[in-house]
Amino acid sequence: MAPTPRNCDYLVIGGGSGGLASGRRASAMYGAKTIAIESKRLGGTCVNVGCVPKKVTWNAAAIAETFKDSKAYGFNYDNLSFDWNTFKNKRDAYVKRLNGIYERNLGNDKVEYIHGYASFLDKNTVEVKLDDGGKEQVKAKHVLIAVGGHPTLPNIPGKELCIDSDGFFDIDQQPKKVAVVGAGYIGVEMSGMLHALGTETHFFIRGDKVLRSFDPIIQDTVTKEYERVGVDLHKQGQITKVEDQGNGKKRVTYTEAGKEGLILEDVDVVLFAVGRSPEIENLGLDKLGGIKLNEKKHIVVDDYQNTNIDNVYALGDVCNKGFELTPVAIAAGRRLSDRLFGGKKDSKLEYENIPSVVFAHPEVGSVGLTEPEAREKYGDSVKVYKTSFTAMYYAMMEPEDKGPTAMKVVCEGPNERVVGLHLVGQGVAEMLQGFGVAVRMGATKADLDRCVAIHPTSAEELVTLK
Ligand code: FAD
Ligand code: NDP
Repeated sequence: MAPTPRNCDYLVIGGGSGGLASGRRASAMYGAKTIAIESKRLGGTCVNVGCVPKKVTWNAAAIAETFKDSKAYGFNYDNLSFDWNTFKNKRDAYVKRLNGIYERNLGNDKVEYIHGYASFLDKNTVEVKLDDGGKEQVKAKHVLIAVGGHPTLPNIPGKELCIDSDGFFDIDQQPKKVAVVGAGYIGVEMSGMLHALGTETHFFIRGDKVLRSFDPIIQDTVTKEYERVGVDLHKQGQITKVEDQGNGKKRVTYTEAGKEGLILEDVDVVLFAVGRSPEIENLGLDKLGGIKLNEKKHIVVDDYQNTNIDNVYALGDVCNKGFELTPVAIAAGRRLSDRLFGGKKDSKLEYENIPSVVFAHPEVGSVGLTEPEAREKYGDSVKVYKTSFTAMYYAMMEPEDKGPTAMKVVCEGPNERVVGLHLVGQGVAEMLQGFGVAVRMGATKADLDRCVAIHPTSAEELVTLK
């Protein structure tokens, strides 16, 4: 006999950044009867295998770098060591605490939570496979698909011996030697952290520069810096085969700059970070009668997160908006609930001037158009201001130990409206948020200049650019 379905106004599939934010707002602020379904751990990618454990690991790496730099300031210490396993266990415990907090928050906001795997039966009905093997049905007036994505692994021989970014957070002993593939956010962050923590890090990028979707000033500065600090960068590099050496280590065959059949032995971890794919395989989308997907299988939505199926919405990493960032999923989710249940019929997220940072070494921050994008869009009316310098932090260090700082402001039109801002250097992740507000408000170069500098900081350079 078919189970009696539960009914609700709003069904959220996926208890990650976007789903939880949207569901909680719908229920707590607007009283919509809301049910959220999560198959793994509450908090989704960000809390469990993304931003949160990544940033904690980045903090550990930054502390290691500070220890190294401290000698230039006269500190001496013996026997400095890092216990990866202790660190990992503490990090896991922190994430577990957050899982509990997320569950309590759902309860506080009166969102009903079902732990299980959801798939569509039709556009208003979902079947949930429960952990105990049982099944439930939920019927809803509105359904949000917020199922996120998963890392992609290329199909090479020995793929099963490799890990992805999820696997990074399972590593329980410090690897001596790693191979990291992928020049995007995750590859740059993870190779940087591993190197800073003392692991021999081989970093394979298929082009000549990292972070190729960023402004050239960022690509050039970070690529050069990773080489300077001793990350083993394999440019135009591809791993073609991975084999088990039999002693727990891996043998990696690779190409680099046209040379084939090169070998790296005794590798503990091979980590691929070559992009992510939407998590839609078993969602029963075929039951929706033709939901539109793009060529990469992201769900196509309009400006209001509507799919082409009535009362079915999508947001976050699973949709085609192209910003795989936690605050983007959260903002889109809250605005969607404001629109569906709060009477704010024009509420939507504007997908432009979204700031983002890469927790590289040093950090990267970027908002708006790159210089090439601005030139393409605005032609000769683009004016660029840039600087690179040595931050005062490095004043005490030998020349070979000094890290870079680089900044670029891209302006457009006679008023020199700021349309892009690109930063690399210590502290830029914290610096960017305020400048992001200014760019969103339509700041011009003259507005930046009118703000009195804060001295001595690196940020002051942004209001004194010539
Ligand atoms: P998710 O957070 O992935 O949530 C989707 C949830 O749906 C998951 O919990 C999943 O288990 C669940 N689910 C899937 N299918 C079903 C189903 N059929 N039934 C029930 N549940 C289902 N972003 C930043 O802004 N800053 C960062 O520093 C940052 N660092 C990152 C580091 C890494 C290593 C990674 C991988 C990502 C990082 N991101 C970062 C990106 C960020 O984590 C994602 O953009 C964000 O989590 C997307 O939110 P979402 O709600 O779309 O999906
Ligand atoms: P990205 O899209 O950032 O980068 C993917 C990288 O993989 C690119 O550099 C690309 O190379 C490379 N690549 C793709 N295919 C291959 C291949 N077959 N062989 C070798 N290299 C390949 O994806 P990530 O996986 O790094 O991260 C996914 C998303 O998660 C990010 O886009 C970001 O939105 C989010 N994220 C955000 C973070 C933050 O906010 N700090 C941190 C981590 C993730 P090429 O450049 O040469 O084309």
